Amino acid sequence: MSESPLFERIALIGLGLIGSSLARAIKARLPGSLVVVTDHTAAVRRRAGEIGLGDEIAEDANTAVKEADLVILCVPVGATASLGASIAPALKPGAILSDVGSVKGAVVAALAPLVPETVHLVPAHPVAGTEYSGPDSGFATLFENRWCILTPPEAADPAAVARMSAFWRALGANVEQMSAAHHDLVLAITSHVPHLIAYNIVGTAADLEEVTASEVIKFSAGGFRDFTRIAASDPTMWRDVFLNNRDAVLEMLGRFNEDLSALQRMIRWGDGDGLFELFTRTRAIRRNIIASGQETSAPDFGRRVGTPAANEASATTTERQNNS
Ligand code: NAP
Repeated sequence: MSESPLFERIALIGLGLIGSSLARAIKARLPGSLVVVTDHTAAVRRRAGEIGLGDEIAEDANTAVKEADLVILCVPVGATASLGASIAPALKPGAILSDVGSVKGAVVAALAPLVPETVHLVPAHPVAGTEYSGPDSGFATLFENRWCILTPPEAADPAAVARMSAFWRALGANVEQMSAAHHDLVLAITSHVPHLIAYNIVGTAADLEEVTASEVIKFSAGGFRDFTRIAASDPTMWRDVFLNNRDAVLEMLGRFNEDLSALQRMIRWGDGDGLFELFTRTRAIRRNIIASGQETSAPDFGRRVGTPAANEASATTTERQNNS
């Protein structure tokens, strides 16, 4: 006798990197679930049909969520409130409503008042991504060995939270639970501020008059190239992240600026010991990230092709880059 699936019918709204990766991962790892997909852009829905995303393609979100026992919003954070308001009346009693947004406080605040009492709200954030967007950019293994953070409201039904936890584990993710506010603070320093720094440094280089554009590209083998990958991330997604996690980002930026001033002072006054001590501590942090399996140990992120080790590392790195 075959076991009944965790969810009979799953609706995915928004078919970019994360939505299309979810469609592929569910097909690969939870084949018993029927997946209905949709996107507000007709060309994306058409493309989803061409590349076989989901079992059914719905014309709109309200049609997609009907009868679904799990609905996951995979749209930019700024689109969550209006999409939530539009689908709320069509949600099936007993269904779970979730999302994948990179900011959680604003998502919970927007969705909680809209969700009918019979529907369980369990927001989530898979801390996994790349700098690419759109339905072709997704892949089934994106969530494997990555963290997925659940931020259920305090009154959430424990059974619904346990089902969402089982869902993400089934897709290969490790699951952690925390408050939305704590999530936003942690992600502000691990993801949002680093993206802002990358956008800033690439923008500064682009504006420099005494260094030509061709030199920036030619000599980008230094640290700059790593920043350009992050700074190539989706402008809509990241605009929404900064507008919706304003307080935590500003708090972390304040600390960052203080530490940057301290570094400036060390350089000005020739404090080599201070610089050495900081660089030694930061090196240890990278070693810990590698030891925890969240990054490759290959030199240059495994980019140098030609050696079997580098080729293998390169394949793994592509899947592990973390833009969440
Ligand atoms: P994406 O590749 O840009 O895809 C988002 C898709 O949703 C686009 O096709 C977009 O269409 C569509 N969409 C926007 N508003 C919609 C609406 N109201 N109804 C239906 N479809 C709508 O973005 P993504 O990278 O998958 O990100 C999706 C969410 O995941 C974001 O909240 C982001 O914060 C989160 N996240 C991203 C990453 C990452 O690294 N990319 C990692 C973890 C979590 P149009 O473009 O035509 O408007």
